[in-house]
Amino acid sequence: MGSIVTMKCGECGYEQEHFLGAGMMDYQDFGRNRTKRDILRGVYGEEVRKALEKNPKANVYRSNDLFYCECCGMHTSKSSVRLFKTKKFLWRRKSVLLISSVHVCERCQKEMIRIEENKCSGLSCPQCKAPLKIFSGGCWD
Ligand SMILES: [Zn+2]
Ligand SMILES: [Zn+2]
Repeated sequence: MGSIVTMKCGECGYEQEHFLGAGMMDYQDFGRNRTKRDILRGVYGEEVRKALEKNPKANVYRSNDLFYCECCGMHTSKSSVRLFKTKKFLWRRKSVLLISSVHVCERCQKEMIRIEENKCSGLSCPQCKAPLKIFSGGCWD
């Protein structure tokens, strides 16, 4: 299940709601196959497409992640994917991250930084740079 996060700025009134994480569909074969098709169509960029072509058996995870631009301070939630390969590691199997999709800031064309869900606090307002207040708004699936 994904979580809904609302960010509010007490100074200028900026407000943004983000649907983060993964939904029910993303954990089912139907959703995973759809994600794989999207990757092969190039929806998540050329690098990810090539990685899946090379590793057709890779595990694919799609989720809405929060991205932050260091340049202009903008943040946005984007559908993004991660590819994992299972490798034998001594006596057990281990998932190794092959690649994760990247996003580019619409304003600056710079690569954005992925923010983990539990690290939303400490972000500042993209309009006035005041610290943002983060509210948890429940779950979505
Ligand atoms: Zn503000
Ligand atoms: Zn930017």
